[in-house]
Amino acid sequence: MTKIVDHIAQAKGRTLFSFEILPPLKGESINTIYAGIEPLMEFKPPFIDVTYHREEYVYRQKPGGLLEKRVERKRPGTVGICAAIMNRFHVDAVPHIICGGFSREETEEALIDLHFLGIDNVLAMRGDAIKSEGRFYPEPDGHAYATDLISQIRALNEGKYLDPEMPRPTPTNFCIGVAGYPEKHFEAPNMKTDLKWLKKKIELGGEYIVTQMFFNNQAFLDFVEKCRAEGITVPIIPGLKPITTRKQLTLLPSIFHVDIPEALAEACETCKTDAEVKQIGIEWCIQQSKELVSAGVPVLHYYSMGKSDAVKAIAKEVF
Ligand code: FAD
Repeated sequence: MTKIVDHIAQAKGRTLFSFEILPPLKGESINTIYAGIEPLMEFKPPFIDVTYHREEYVYRQKPGGLLEKRVERKRPGTVGICAAIMNRFHVDAVPHIICGGFSREETEEALIDLHFLGIDNVLAMRGDAIKSEGRFYPEPDGHAYATDLISQIRALNEGKYLDPEMPRPTPTNFCIGVAGYPEKHFEAPNMKTDLKWLKKKIELGGEYIVTQMFFNNQAFLDFVEKCRAEGITVPIIPGLKPITTRKQLTLLPSIFHVDIPEALAEACETCKTDAEVKQIGIEWCIQQSKELVSAGVPVLHYYSMGKSDAVKAIAKEVF
């Protein structure tokens, strides 16, 4: 197991390739995951991220018209998938770990599981609100912000478990990544405040930053400059997503609070089919990727969303 920051250091300035996958929907086979990863292995990703999906409320109609409210997790399996990927592909897997839905005790148990499995990289985040709730609510004994989660992981790395009287506390060895937002986190009142908290996440133990997707490289480059001006010196990994359907032109801004440049949106709107949109999205992302490699980014991290063909077409041109 190699820490992400060590992968970056060992690359000695060469830009690495990596990507993020989603666990399959509950009930689907892990083979769907393998099928999404296999075509990308030729580009030698040193690590693959696996997202975490919290519970949702679903409503089922009962006889008589009453609605039954149920709590469901539609994409469980993050930790199992990480272990399976490491076994099968011999690359590092980075589970995403969030505050939402976890008490401190449950977080500690999840971290112990990861430690026992030899998974020592995590991307630590707050998570979003439950879909049907307007804002994020922490568990009664859970963390409200990524800063608190990072502090717990850091404490565990120092052998400090929740029970201060534990007789033989074994320190863990997690390399902690954190999320950053070139176009600002949507809840932050302004970029300055958002950067203040980003800096705090690094001071508390974050060792590198992975960004939200963006479609305008200048937004990323400006963000890196502002981070450096604030004294944030850790590696900043850009996250890239090729647009593959016309629907994403409105979906991505509404879910991820990102801007789609006029030129990209207009080019997609003139397309007659989604196949044409996908080609435009791939070409845009190749251009973004090439510019970012020239700018010396440590890693290009693609949001594959489980589908490898678009990312493969891009990686072929860039790596
Ligand atoms: P935080 O850093 O906690 O920030 C949340 C907001 O509060 C920001 O506006 C920030 O400015 C402010 N803030 C931060 N710390 C404090 C503090 N101590 N006091 C007051 N204000 C503060 N979500 C998932 O559910 N699963 C995933 O797998 C997942 N993967 C992601 C991967 C990447 C690369 C990115 C960029 C996001 C991912 N997300 C995922 C989404 C993420 O959980 C949301 O964007 C969430 O709204 C914020 O998470 P965060 O860790 O950035 O939050």
